[in-house]
Amino acid sequence: MKQVLILIIIMTIIMTILNLRKKVAIAMPPFFTWIRKDYRNNTEVIRHEECHWEQYRRMGFIKFYKQYFSEQLNGYANSSLEKECYEAEMKN
Ligand SMILES: [Zn+2]
Repeated sequence: MKQVLILIIIMTIIMTILNLRKKVAIAMPPFFTWIRKDYRNNTEVIRHEECHWEQYRRMGFIKFYKQYFSEQLNGYANSSLEKECYEAEMKN
């Protein structure tokens, strides 16, 4: 179980770094949220990243990263976690 957890963390970090240039923000609960300087006042981006923290609180560490990582492998646009946070961007 511990090895699986370490593998998930390593793979998530690698994928995050590989995608860094395309991204304006990254949420890695419970560690940090990074938002590109020119997007730090963007309400939609903030809502999107807060949504990932909410998913983390709801699912817990292992379930969240396991699902997040496996969904990323199938493509960012098809990820149900991402879809949920795109919807959260539009909420008031
Ligand atoms: Zn996202």
